[in-house]
Amino acid sequence: MKKKYFWIIGILIVIILLSVPTFHILKTKWNEDSILDSLPKGYIDDASQLNLTKVDTIIQVPNDKKEIETQLKSILQYAKENDLKISIAGARHSMGGHTIYPDGIVLTMLPYKQMELDTINNILTIGSGALWEDALKYLDQYGRSVAIMQAFSSFSVGGSISVNGHGWQKDSPPISASVISFTLMTENGEIVHCSREENQELFNLAIGGYGLFGIILNVRLKVVENIALQFKHIRLSPKKYVSYYKKHVSDNPNVNLVFGRLRISDKHFLEEATLNFFEKVGTPAPNLQNEKSTEAQRLVFRGSVNSEYGKRLRWDLETGMNKVSKNEIYSRNELLNDHVSLIENKDHSSTDLLQEYFIPERRFNQYIDDIKPILRHSKIDLLNITIRGVHQDNDSYLAYARENVFGFVLLFNQKKKRMNKS
Ligand SMILES: Cc1cc2nc3c(=O)[nH]c(=O)nc-3n(C[C@H](O)[C@H](O)[C@H](O)COP(=O)(O)OP(=O)(O)OC[C@H]3O[C@@H](n4cnc5c(N)ncnc54)[C@H](O)[C@@H]3O)c2cc1C
Repeated sequence: MKKKYFWIIGILIVIILLSVPTFHILKTKWNEDSILDSLPKGYIDDASQLNLTKVDTIIQVPNDKKEIETQLKSILQYAKENDLKISIAGARHSMGGHTIYPDGIVLTMLPYKQMELDTINNILTIGSGALWEDALKYLDQYGRSVAIMQAFSSFSVGGSISVNGHGWQKDSPPISASVISFTLMTENGEIVHCSREENQELFNLAIGGYGLFGIILNVRLKVVENIALQFKHIRLSPKKYVSYYKKHVSDNPNVNLVFGRLRISDKHFLEEATLNFFEKVGTPAPNLQNEKSTEAQRLVFRGSVNSEYGKRLRWDLETGMNKVSKNEIYSRNELLNDHVSLIENKDHSSTDLLQEYFIPERRFNQYIDDIKPILRHSKIDLLNITIRGVHQDNDSYLAYARENVFGFVLLFNQKKKRMNKS
């Protein structure tokens, strides 16, 4: 064959190789709904979209400290007199209907978000309705950062304390460990100070207590320095995860943030992993910038729904990007300030559901071996598994980390039926 034909064939192969993923991503975008589903009047739901419930009233609390106390006391009194139940809602990202009671009153805490930093003692006093992204933006001006929070910043402080979420901060227990104290309005309208020294039992019960012990109002949280961090990553077999974690993360004092990921495509299902960590460097941390567009990243993620090709593409692109961004430097606040819109599902015929399993280190490999056949044979579409190290929790009465564990965070896509409520 002539040399020129080799060139033509070569160029055609490159065009095909580039156009297949581009077409896949564009198809994902075309298949999404452009109009948001709105809830029927008088109904509320949570992030699962599986808990649509009719309620009596939805009340937004005010942002003022005195006003909120007066308002909540009168709502509690009214509810008692009219035999109504009250539920408390933050960002409603918990997926079990915890924030909703049928025909009850829903207190939406999000407006209550004032904050103040004690720069001498590194303590942030914050309204329980504030989102972590509000806290990060505020702390950034003072060169400080949140000590422990979840992987996304779109949740509320009160909701996160009430589920006692865990994060990806190295060697950290759940959020409880960063809570110094809080005020709690109990069912009779009394405001109680809770800490490890004062009303300790209520402190332990309300952290991870899903709002069952009262309304958390003002929280005092430990904060840390906002440092510059350099990205490192290792691609490895899951069998080596624990030993590599010990060597590269636990024994390295410079590591500050860390998470792992398992491969979930049918090809090499749960047979490959990545260990991603961020090491402290001596340079000053850059300030938070305006949010960058994450649409391309979101579409690559959404393109993995119900598609083996999409799952492989996402794994290849992410591990490829890891190589490109290895050694890049970020501020801690920038890394913590990811919004859930990064993975937003805009196809309303399905919903995404999150499940977490907390596994002691000695059972790590056995757990992966055990879930492999279950996940392979189930019809539910697995989108993601990340791994986080969570240290023992000595604060919450309802602790899920009773020893040091690894949290396996599984995200599934589930088809749903449309319910017409009028
Ligand atoms: C995509 C996704 C990723 C997630 N990643 C993580 C993760 O990395 N780590 C992790 O641990 N979790 C994770 N979660 C779970 C999530 O962290 C929690 O569901 C969330 O933090 C709760 O915050 P929220 O503001 O949405 O609370 P909500 O869901 O609104 O409320 C949670 C509970 O707290 C109660 N509550 C809310 N505010 C108050 C208050 N002021 N006083 C008393 N009770 C109150 C509610 O009644 C409810 O029982 C994830 C969830 C999703 C959907």
